[in-house]
Amino acid sequence: MKQLDIGVAGAGPAGLAAALFLSRAGHRVEILERFETPAPVGSGLLMQPTGLTVLNALGLSDTIHAIGSRIDRLHGADAKSGRTVLDVRYDAAPSGRYGLAVQRAALFNTLHDAAVADGIRIRTGIDLASTGMRGDRAVLKNAEGVVGDYDLVIDASGTRSMLAAKAATAPSIRDLTYGAFWATLDGQGAAYDKSALSQRYDKAKVMIGLLPTGRIRRDEPERVAFFWSLKVADVEAVKAAGLDQWKAIIRSYWADCAPFLDQIEDWDQLTLARYAHRTALPPFSGRLVFIGDSAHSTSPQLGQGANMALLDAAALSHALARCADIPSALAAYARARRNHVRLFQLLSLAFTPFYQSDSTAIAWVRDRLVSTVAKIPPMPGLLASIVAGTLIDPFGPAGLTECTWQEDLSLLSGMA
Ligand SMILES: Cc1cc2nc3c(=O)[nH]c(=O)nc-3n(C[C@H](O)[C@H](O)[C@H](O)COP(=O)(O)OP(=O)(O)OC[C@H]3O[C@@H](n4cnc5c(N)ncnc54)[C@H](O)[C@@H]3O)c2cc1C
Repeated sequence: MKQLDIGVAGAGPAGLAAALFLSRAGHRVEILERFETPAPVGSGLLMQPTGLTVLNALGLSDTIHAIGSRIDRLHGADAKSGRTVLDVRYDAAPSGRYGLAVQRAALFNTLHDAAVADGIRIRTGIDLASTGMRGDRAVLKNAEGVVGDYDLVIDASGTRSMLAAKAATAPSIRDLTYGAFWATLDGQGAAYDKSALSQRYDKAKVMIGLLPTGRIRRDEPERVAFFWSLKVADVEAVKAAGLDQWKAIIRSYWADCAPFLDQIEDWDQLTLARYAHRTALPPFSGRLVFIGDSAHSTSPQLGQGANMALLDAAALSHALARCADIPSALAAYARARRNHVRLFQLLSLAFTPFYQSDSTAIAWVRDRLVSTVAKIPPMPGLLASIVAGTLIDPFGPAGLTECTWQEDLSLLSGMA
């Protein structure tokens, strides 16, 4: 396709990755971001073989491996009995895969540094309110009016996108009842599994998690993401009861959390993450295309959101490279991602009540039935593919070839 002027709304993983792919393909790209200083919000992220393959395609594999923390296993136990109810190992599926946990800021810096190095223009402090058309050009507007006009606008502004809310394909957005408190903490002196996402449960009402997330930059200390699941409606009551009571509850479930809790002295150290489900169908409207959470979001139970955002960026760039015009490229992008997105949204929705709900029956099924069935072949391999994001092929339709995992191993922090 001819060189296009492309405006990207949002400097999250989706927007930054799309800008990198498209500017390297020869298009003129600029990113518009609400924050004055682009910065990630939140704590840790688990990069799956899908997202790692996209980063590899962008030439960022060594950077992310040098700061991330290798995760081999997702392990969860009942907090009272200590019985294992979740044990998914990446190596249960062939190919030597693993996950890589990173701090959000580390993923952001990796992509943002690359965008800056590539000379991509990033305009900050622009709170986008809507899109529209001016002749055959797509425009982006803030409250004052038009801030840019383009051949194509990519909406990568996340779950609560203003642009998507006003588009012809306006998706429905459903806030989920449960969210979580997250904090990024120092792991020194604490006892935790450095190669696992570890969780403790009490039925599906309580979920506490520890995820080793590596470092923000090579010379900084390694950190651990701590999270505590709760109903968003209960947040004020939990706060009113006081920090000490909250810590006592967590310690009663999982004593090993004490060194992490000791670092929390103020509620401000905890970020409340709210989860929502949305789907934009189709993920484009005229010259506006949705990628990442603005196209689809779910609860982060399966840890796929950022990975799917990166896959979207690769698939859109691949579609634009091989189609003759914008309408056929956007339709090709939608086709390329449709099955994978639908499957993983469905799986996230299906798995969420097992870990975040008021149902004791669902928790009983998880603890007694699912945990037993999960050990019987071919279930371990199947579960590993679900966690890896590869239950169906996400790579071919996005124009990617999966990483060779043994090569990437040598890049891991501490092994390089
Ligand atoms: C607690 C939590 C844990 C998670 N854990 C995982 C995990 O382990 N693995 C995983 O893969 N995913 C995880 N996710 C999901 C993941 O964070 C998202 O799927 C991912 O960040 C989506 O990327 P994005 O670029 O589409 O959107 P975002 O990351 O939301 O980025 C959107 C960008 O657009 C900007 N923006 C928004 N509105 C405007 C506007 N009006 N004007 C201009 N700019 C705007 C924002 O400032 C932001 O920079 C988790 C999510 C949460 C909440």
